[in-house]
Order: sequence, then C-alpha cells, then structure tokens
Amino acid sequence: MAETAVLTETASVAGAPLTLDAIVIGAGVAGLYQLHLLRQQGLDVKAFDAASDVGGTWYWNRYPGSRFDSEAFCYQYLFSEELYKGWSWSEKFPGQPEIERWLHYVADKLDLRRDIQFSTRIESAHYNEATGRWKVTTDSGQVIDTRYVVSCCGMLSAPMASLFPGQETFKGQLFHTARWPKQPVDLAGKRVAVIGNGATGIQVIQTIAEQVGHLTVFVRTPQYMIPMKNPTFTEEDQNAYKAKFDLFAQRLPHTFTGFEHDFEHAWAPLTPEQRREVLEKTWEDGSLKFWIASFGELFFDPEVGEQISEFVREKMRARLKDERLCKLLIPSDYFFGTHRVPLERGFLEAFLRPNVEVVSVRDNPIERVTPDGLMLRDGTTYDCDVLIFATGFDAGTGALTRIDIRGRDGRSLKEDWSQDIRTTMGLQVHGYPNLFTTGAPLAPSAALCNMTTCLQQQAEWISDCIRHMRAHDLRVCEPTAAAEEQWIEHHEALANATLVTKTDSWYMGCNVPGKPRRLLSYVGGVGAYRQKCDEAAASGYAGFAMH
Ligand SMILES: Cc1cc2nc3c(=O)[nH]c(=O)nc-3n(C[C@H](O)[C@H](O)[C@H](O)COP(=O)(O)OP(=O)(O)OC[C@H]3O[C@@H](n4cnc5c(N)ncnc54)[C@H](O)[C@@H]3O)c2cc1C
Repeated sequence: MAETAVLTETASVAGAPLTLDAIVIGAGVAGLYQLHLLRQQGLDVKAFDAASDVGGTWYWNRYPGSRFDSEAFCYQYLFSEELYKGWSWSEKFPGQPEIERWLHYVADKLDLRRDIQFSTRIESAHYNEATGRWKVTTDSGQVIDTRYVVSCCGMLSAPMASLFPGQETFKGQLFHTARWPKQPVDLAGKRVAVIGNGATGIQVIQTIAEQVGHLTVFVRTPQYMIPMKNPTFTEEDQNAYKAKFDLFAQRLPHTFTGFEHDFEHAWAPLTPEQRREVLEKTWEDGSLKFWIASFGELFFDPEVGEQISEFVREKMRARLKDERLCKLLIPSDYFFGTHRVPLERGFLEAFLRPNVEVVSVRDNPIERVTPDGLMLRDGTTYDCDVLIFATGFDAGTGALTRIDIRGRDGRSLKEDWSQDIRTTMGLQVHGYPNLFTTGAPLAPSAALCNMTTCLQQQAEWISDCIRHMRAHDLRVCEPTAAAEEQWIEHHEALANATLVTKTDSWYMGCNVPGKPRRLLSYVGGVGAYRQKCDEAAASGYAGFAMH
C-alpha cells in the first residue's frame, strides 16, 4: 500500500508537524545511500544532519593529516558501476579534502541535497504506540511526524570532548579533532599539546610536528602501528582498479572484514621461517592487510598474538632506537590487533625531533585544564597555546544516546543502554518499533569492517525490510525479545572467544566512564553477518515481529 499517497503533505504549515514516511538521521556514507534507497522506492523521506553539508565523518574530521586507513578503491559505493567509475582517486589512501569532495560528487550525482535538511540536529524521537509513528523534534523546534526513523548517525560521530575540569578557562585555542574548524588554523611556531595517540592522534602528530614550535604529546596507551605505503595513482592505476569493479562488487561483501584482503594463511602448519616470511610480506603491503589478512589466529591465540606483537615491537624499536621512547611508545601489556590498529607515516620519527616531547599519563593522569595548559595529578604543569583533543568518540552508542529516544511505554534508549548495550543484529532494538539503525552496536564496524561495505549492506537490508512491510500492508516492525537475546548470546560467544574482549579499548567502551562493557563490533565476519541478515529476510523477517 502506498502510504505516501495519504502522507504527501511535506510543506510545514505553521505549527503543524512535517509529515513524512521516513526520516534519515545523518548524511554521511550511510545516510546518503539510505536516503537514495528509500526515495527510490517512493517513500516521502528526508534526511537531517547537524552538519552544514554532506560527508559525516569526512565533513567533521578536517584536522591536519586526516585520511583513509581503507584503500580508497574499496571504500566506495558498489551498487552503481557508473558512480564508482565516475570518480578517480589520486592516491591509495587519500586525505579528508578529497574524500569530502567524493561525497559531494555522490550527493550531486544522486541529486540528494534537495531532500536533506542541513544544520539541523535531531533532539528527540518519541514513539506513539497508538499510531505506530514517531514524533521527532529538531533543535530549531521543528516537529516531524514519521513512520520510520532510520539512524545513520554514525559509529564514530559523538566526540569525547568534555573530559577535564577547567576546559572553559583555557586562554588559548582548544580543538577536538572531530570538530576542527573549516578555516585554516595557524600552528606555526606555537606551543601545541595533543592529548591522545590513537588513529587520529597519530595522523595529527605526524603532520604538525614539523610546523609547530613545540609539541607535547600526552600518551595514556601506547599503540601498535603499521607504516602506510601511499602510492599516488596515475591514470593507468585508476583504470586498473576501476577494471576490478565487478571483482570488488562480488568479493568485498563476503570477505571477513569487507576489505579486498582476506585471511589466507594458517599459523600452525607453517615453520617459524615461513611465518616470518608471511609477516614480512603482509607488512610490506603498507596497509591494514597485516592486521586483517595475515594470521586470523592473532585474534584468538595468545601465543600467536604475542609472537606477532613482538614482530611489530621489533619494527618499532628499530625506528625509535631511544630506550626511553621505546618504553613510552611501544605497547607491552596487550596484544597487537586487539585495539584499533592505525596506519602511520613518520609518526615514530616525529619523536626524534628536538621540538617534540612525549609525556606518559598512564600513572600520572591529566587532572585538569588550566588557563595556561594542563596539570597532571602530581601537580606538574605544561603550558601551551593550542590544545588538541584527539580523544576519540563515544563509539557506537553515543550518537544515539545523545538523542532523547523513547520507545514503547516511554522507555529511554539512553537509560536502557546505560544498563546493557543491546540490539538485534545492529539493525533494530527491541522496544523501539520502526527505529532502524546503521553503524550501531553488535554489527560489524570500525576497522573490523571496511565501513562502506558494511553500511551499504545495512542500508539495503533496511530498505528491503521497509519495502516488504509496505508490500504486505504492515506498519510496525520490532525485533522480538527472544530474537534479540539470541543475537546477543551469539555475539557474546564469538566476542568472548577473541582476545579483543580481554583488552581495554574503545571497542569495549572503556574510554567512556560508566559505559557497559561489551564488544561494540560483531566479529563473526562481514560475510557471515550478511548471510544471517539475508536469512532473516528470506524467512519473512524471522525474529522481527510485524503487524
Ligand atoms: C578520523 C576517522 C577516520 C576514519 N577512517 C576510516 C577508514 O579509513 N575506513 C573505514 O572503513 N572507516 C573509517 N572511519 C569510520 C567512519 O566513521 C565510517 O567509515 C563512515 O564514514 C561512517 O559513516 P556513517 O554515515 O555511518 O556515519 P558518519 O559519517 O559519522 O555520519 C553521521 C552523521 O550523522 C550526523 N548526526 C549524528 N547525530 C545527529 C543528530 N542527532 N541530528 C542530526 N545529525 C546527526 C552527524 O552530524 C554526521 O554527519 C573513520 C572514522 C574517523 C572518525
């Protein structure tokens, strides 16, 4: 039944709600495609984004050095050959400006902007059980009445920005990397402090080290890292990767992590020399291949984990040389691959520069921000002109819990997830009918998945589910409590078999005080996840109650 036929009133009559079939929250990689798909099937749909243009992650993260860790030719939409081939990447791992331009290209090609309302934050979404519809409000007081809410608000889009007392007293400039201003920031000759050395911190530090007067880097957890090789692409290279479009379209959705590579080697049958050879070879690729396509055992077997960790430490020691730096910057108490592994270019060498200093805050944490800089617990102070927070995100849950989402019986998603983070396949949450989610917890995500691969699949599943509902005159879809429990048990069984859950990291929610401990990403593999989603759909959406 064409619900749109009776709900075509989209112009806002003063005071009256805007009535839609669906809203999409977010205009990043997921939101753009979701909008396209829902519009294609004739829904009256609008996307909303707090940003002033499309891009999501690639709109907000314009800090110095921001770039892909995914190969550009894999981080693309694969539903349209024309769209894929119409864009040419200049290098293997391009920087943020180029990625943002690509998403502008996508928005233009698919003519998406006419259905996106920018500079608009969704503040609340309340479900009305009597009508099976959501009342959504924006930060400007606009009210939207919609049947479906599709969250594409990002796995890594809620910055951890308010971390220390005294931040408001700082006299210099303070930036979170995910809220970097559009206008250039002049760091030349300045005293700059960077908090954080994860994937983002690494990109910032290696980029600004030579520009600034003095750089102080505050390190809590040293990181393993892989040196990036980033060849520029000639027209011949571009044609060569474009010629592989069919291969990518067929292969990426079925590999373990949605990247081009897959695990090809088994540790046990090989001799130590053969293992070393595989490690050296995958290391030489200069990509995440070393992590996600060397030996799968590194995720499960502590002995393999230790040997591969030692291989990486050895590589890092050879570059750092200095004993003190090695101690501060090389991990020793967790296994390689159980944190998000970053790629880097000259990060370690930055610390060999005379103007760069590293301070460990593991045992002597940052106590507060002062008007002049930072103070550690023991009272030591560090003055600076610019303070950069590379402090990451409230991953997976943060973007959703920052919206006042109320489901059946007025239950609050924020409250529910403060007890236990639960979803059904990362696509829906029991208690929240007609709320669909991409990039949410318990689905593959965040470097354990090449995100475009995962997000396209989720957007397609959601679109198909809504199409099925409309075709069968069904108005409400909600996963059953039993199906959700089953998914969580399955997720936990897989997660707990890995070493990832034994390490404190943002994958486990450990960077957010009070966040329930649960591996946010599904680790059964992108291909296996897709199969489970497809099976649910093929069986008439088993586990999802519809009426
Ligand atoms: C620095 C950085 C580098 C990354 N590099 C890679 C990489 O190399 N490979 C990879 O696979 N992944 C990478 N990621 C992960 C990246 O987030 C995903 O690849 C992808 O861009 C996510 O797209 P999305 O559409 O799901 O969410 P996002 O791109 O995060 O977009 C979400 C959008 O929702 C909007 N939004 C959120 N809440 C609201 C609200 N309440 N109201 C209105 N709008 C709202 C936000 O403004 C944002 O624009 C990286 C992430 C970061 C932060």
